[in-house]
Amino acid sequence: MKRVAMNFAAALVVAGVGAFAGAQAQEYPGSKPVQAVVPFAAGGPTDKVARELTMIMSKHLGTTIVIENLGGAGGTIGAKKVAQAKNDGYTILIHHIGMSTAPALYRNLGFDPLKDFEMVGEVADVPMIMVGNKQLPPANFKDLLPYIKANASKLSLANAGIGSASHLCGLLFQSAIQTELTTVPYKGTAPALTDILGGQVNLMCDQTTNIAGQLKAGALKPYAAMQSRRVEAFKDIPTAAEQGMPGVEVKIWHAMYAPKGTPKPVIDKLSAALQKSVTDPTFRAKMAELGAEAVPAQRATPDSLRTFLGSEIAKWTPVIKKAGVYAD
Ligand code: ASP
Repeated sequence: MKRVAMNFAAALVVAGVGAFAGAQAQEYPGSKPVQAVVPFAAGGPTDKVARELTMIMSKHLGTTIVIENLGGAGGTIGAKKVAQAKNDGYTILIHHIGMSTAPALYRNLGFDPLKDFEMVGEVADVPMIMVGNKQLPPANFKDLLPYIKANASKLSLANAGIGSASHLCGLLFQSAIQTELTTVPYKGTAPALTDILGGQVNLMCDQTTNIAGQLKAGALKPYAAMQSRRVEAFKDIPTAAEQGMPGVEVKIWHAMYAPKGTPKPVIDKLSAALQKSVTDPTFRAKMAELGAEAVPAQRATPDSLRTFLGSEIAKWTPVIKKAGVYAD
């Protein structure tokens, strides 16, 4: 009897906690700031998309969203931190395609992108362009390829760590030209770009969101757009396929996640604010200016992201396994 009474009391406590959590979810976000982890260095492509987004999304969510840059290991350090964070809606992740390539690249990843996160929605698609520092002699992509073959041991290719977009693009490029270059990993492509401009590294495949300004200023050598059609904002840069290298195509997508178990009313509020933000004309114009494209509202939803992330994992896993590259 005593045990039954105790169990009943415990059940009441649990129910009470549940109701309390439910009430808290209804009041979310209140005035408490939300921390958005960006798993790359400040000033880089993921950071730029995240900053433009959170500036607008803070208004739609009704509280400030503060960015924490936690770069390293191709974005997996920041993602793991969010997977293990408190699931109360006050910690979120803004990541990119790396969320779908990491499971194949890291045998000891420490999190499962599909199982350890709640999906909020997609944010934007960003094209990639192969660039080099101004001192590189080849004037175009056609001249670059024989130059690389002849000087492979002296040339370096920057990236943001294994599993990053720049790494993935560089991997496809090296496999297409059947030549290995020395790769130099950074915590993000913002510091890598500084070294490209300074001539410490030679080449990088990067997102237009990072290099748009330097491309417009003529500070980099643009070699090829790494997608099937020319980039709208950089129509004068031919694609790799146009220059004799078909099949090297990487479109980067950004998305937002929360730790597994974040209450549904909270996810619904985050996703509603995200949908308002991606359709906000200011955000769309800013993305276009950087060569990127904000997703339509129907892609800024949990269901759409879950399906898309699953399809991207299915797409990249065999490509990476075939290349035989592992980060650990
Ligand atoms: N998005 C970049 C990459 O994966 C990293 C960054 O945002 O700095 O190469």
